[in-house]
Amino acid sequence: MLYHCGVAREYPVAEERLFFKSEIFEGGRRRQRPPRPGKSWVEPSRSLPVFAECDVLVVGGGPAGTAAAVSAARLGADVILLERYNHLGGLSTGGLVFWIDRMTDWDGKPVIRGFAEELFARLPADYVCGPARADWGTRDAATAAYWSLRAAAFHGIVTWSPMVCPELLKLASLDMVEEAGARLVLHGWASVPIVEDGAVRGVVFESKEGRQAIFARVTVDATGDGDIFHRAGVPSESDIEKNDIHHCMNTAWIWAGVDMKQWMAFRTGDPQGFSAFMAMGREKVGHFERPFTSWRDDVALFMGPRQSGFDALSVDDLTEVEVLCRRLMWRHLEVFREHAPGFANAWPVQSAPQMGVRHTRRLVGVEKINRAQWDDGTPLASEVGVSPSLSPKFPNISVPYGALLPRELEGLLAPGRHVSCDATSHSFMREIPQCWLTGHAAGVAAGLAADRGIQPRALDIRDVQAALLKQGAWLRPAAPAADARDRTVEPSAARR
Ligand SMILES: Cc1cc2nc3c(=O)[nH]c(=O)nc-3n(C[C@H](O)[C@H](O)[C@H](O)COP(=O)(O)OP(=O)(O)OC[C@H]3O[C@@H](n4cnc5c(N)ncnc54)[C@H](O)[C@@H]3O)c2cc1C
Repeated sequence: MLYHCGVAREYPVAEERLFFKSEIFEGGRRRQRPPRPGKSWVEPSRSLPVFAECDVLVVGGGPAGTAAAVSAARLGADVILLERYNHLGGLSTGGLVFWIDRMTDWDGKPVIRGFAEELFARLPADYVCGPARADWGTRDAATAAYWSLRAAAFHGIVTWSPMVCPELLKLASLDMVEEAGARLVLHGWASVPIVEDGAVRGVVFESKEGRQAIFARVTVDATGDGDIFHRAGVPSESDIEKNDIHHCMNTAWIWAGVDMKQWMAFRTGDPQGFSAFMAMGREKVGHFERPFTSWRDDVALFMGPRQSGFDALSVDDLTEVEVLCRRLMWRHLEVFREHAPGFANAWPVQSAPQMGVRHTRRLVGVEKINRAQWDDGTPLASEVGVSPSLSPKFPNISVPYGALLPRELEGLLAPGRHVSCDATSHSFMREIPQCWLTGHAAGVAAGLAADRGIQPRALDIRDVQAALLKQGAWLRPAAPAADARDRTVEPSAARR
């Protein structure tokens, strides 16, 4: 398919680097906070109404949760998808993170497929901006230079990393959930897991109706922050990769009325003018951010200014970053309107309804995707998907089923940005395509486990792989062994 942006050929090639380099604003907390009283209140016990019972409960309707709900429902499971906000897509829509980075490997081969591919097939071409399929993997300097300005080329290679209209993504996601037969419950915030005999049996959630329970054979924690597994006592990790930006938070925004072609011509045609503009912006605004392109040339996306030194699990920090980002947006608008080519008529369409949180907790799982694995392209026996690597220096990364499974707790799977990985591998495992991938795998496993009345960890991995392949995922299962039906997923020493 050829997307509408067209290809100009006059831009320089992006420099080689491993992590996407973005400006980070250090500083952290500045607002005074009253001390917490240091008291506690014992909540009286009470009985709660049961809202529903189901086979598979998915908590969180972001990329991972949406994929999980669809894939489990397609296996015939009775699925509920519970989401705290009013839309699906999580950060990819509500966080205005509609740069879907990246579904092809460095040879241009689409490796993140299945749910992701189906979702894209539903998006009309004029709501998506990305390179034509024939250009995926090309190293042609001019084509790569053009797409690097539209965030779809890195290391001089064109990748399938399109920009997508977030409203269409919301609609396509909810169409897929409903068509698969899953029950969608919006405006419901899961508060605590129901844990009995070492297994999650569902959750208690809050809504305008008050506090209610949902029971499920298998629960999928797709909250992104591990809210459910954490409250069930499952250990998590939170160390960070300092060369990456994943410890930063910010509220993104989009402006319309801009001319991004004029802006890009300025950026590439007048490097000195661009540096002077950025210096002036930093002087006037402090934390000053440059725009990304979007799915339209009259809409600009700002996915920063990235704030470090905050904790996205602290309600005071979340509040402070919201206040800071909203003020920064208006200060940016003044400077851009007055001084930036292409921005004279810019107007603020939307600031993200959802705070941009890249990282909080990561599951301590049965298996763990880690840096040591990057050099070895061998598919793992428990592979449930394949992720592109961070740079052409590395082969594709095998994503193991055990990265979704807590070590001990039963009845639970945890796909998405809190998947079990080290801090360095989190830089790509948190990306939207990888969250679709792990969500797809978790949904298939949850559907199979619920159907068979067994725990997710007791599944024969070959059955999970076969069901994923049937649903269009791309993975490389080993040949079925004679004892396949007896195999369960055990911690692999190499990945602990
Ligand atoms: C500013 C920013 C820029 C980024 N840039 C890119 C990029 O360019 N490309 C890319 O591919 N990725 C990017 N990412 C990463 C990517 O957006 C996320 O990591 C990805 O969306 C995570 O998907 P998820 O489904 O795991 O979690 P989320 O998208 O966080 O979705 C979790 C969902 O669960 C819901 N939820 C949470 N807690 C509860 C609860 N207790 N009860 C009910 N519902 C709950 C949330 O409302 C949300 O809908 C960026 C992230 C940020 C913040």
